[in-house]
Amino acid sequence: MKKHLVLIYQNIDIPFIFEEAEALEIRLTLINRPDHQSDHQSVKLPAVQRQISIDIFNEEEAINELKNLNEHDPIDGVMTLFDGAVTFTSLLAEELNLPKSGENSHIHLRDKSAMRNQFSAYDINNPQYKVIDDMSDINIIKSMKYPVVIKPKTGFSSLGVIKASNEQEAKNGIEAVQAINEQTLDYMSLNEGNSFSGIIIEEYIDGPEYVAESFVNDGETSILSIGYKGNPTGPYFEEGIYIAPAQLSQSLKEEIEVQVIRANRALGIVNGPTHTELRVGADKAPYILEVGARIGGSGVSHFIVKESTGINLAKWSLCTAIGEKVKISNINETSKCIAGNYIIPTKGHGEITKFNGIHNVLKQEETKRLLQFLNVGNFVEAYPNFSGYPGFVLTTHKNYEACVNYYKWLQNEISINYK
Ligand code: ADP
Repeated sequence: MKKHLVLIYQNIDIPFIFEEAEALEIRLTLINRPDHQSDHQSVKLPAVQRQISIDIFNEEEAINELKNLNEHDPIDGVMTLFDGAVTFTSLLAEELNLPKSGENSHIHLRDKSAMRNQFSAYDINNPQYKVIDDMSDINIIKSMKYPVVIKPKTGFSSLGVIKASNEQEAKNGIEAVQAINEQTLDYMSLNEGNSFSGIIIEEYIDGPEYVAESFVNDGETSILSIGYKGNPTGPYFEEGIYIAPAQLSQSLKEEIEVQVIRANRALGIVNGPTHTELRVGADKAPYILEVGARIGGSGVSHFIVKESTGINLAKWSLCTAIGEKVKISNINETSKCIAGNYIIPTKGHGEITKFNGIHNVLKQEETKRLLQFLNVGNFVEAYPNFSGYPGFVLTTHKNYEACVNYYKWLQNEISINYK
């Protein structure tokens, strides 16, 4: 009998996890957000045996529903690539006695202030940070060193992440983030009756951004790749590029590795993938912005790691999730090629009337896949709200410079018209 894995809130436009599950002959039950169920159900997805609509933020009912499923079709593992579902996935694994990434790690992972507190306890570089749990804490902004970054404690995808250069901007930013919490995130915060999911204010780390993909096996971290993510300066942090491997000095590479290994330990992650975003400060030290105990970018990290190193990250992660031991091998220092993700920028907002350049981009040999998420007729909201990215161009190149040149070309080639 094929193994049965429950996959929670997967973006179905990013195919890697479905494809790799099929290659491993794993059967998937896909749990959809109730507002996505009807769109998803009409699509035939590799390895997916059934789709169920469950509101995981109504936690008790959701767990009961999946316990019922487990009784008539035993579940071997549970997994998510969606940040907002990491906590629930971990709780479900606990309830059904399934393999999980760590003991209590979800508590630190879903709450950016809990994560920072853990980092302080484990000698990990932390920017100065303060927490606003209640609007009466707002005077905290007087004691910060500017610029700062304001963000929801339980946010994801840069939703409501805002840079502020002075107290007035900070006050406006906090009000904007509070509105985003009320509209979207309070509901998802699984905070036992507390309807304010909170805000964290951090010192702005002014330097290049990197992302490390790691895999933890029985508490032992292997760093699979470190990629470059540009140098976004805000005030909103729309994602732009991801190129791996990054061009790093040996000493910075080693310092990033040390921070990632310590962070995995601090967060209690003992098995499975982690996706860690960092920025290098003026003091040349790497500071972790966030760790996700999951494959990053809904599966994009799998593409990057597989193309640039040959390691099948999704395969390792799926096997670990169903309790099969993974043989960690094939980690070597030389990359096979440069792999990257060019995230199509929104460059505006309103209703999309035209998407230009896609056909030509698809014809180029550097383009391995083009995943388009928004189309003519979709509405893009202005930042700090987040309507999703227009699309990803996933590419490979012989060398770093070729990748940079290709992305410069893409910048002019792809454009979106709005009304
Ligand atoms: P999310 O989980 O919503 O993606 P992050 O904490 O990862 O939020 O922040 C999103 C982006 O905002 C980061 O990738 C980075 O570009 C920027 N950012 C966040 N915190 C800081 C900070 N302290 N200093 C500089 N940039 C930051």
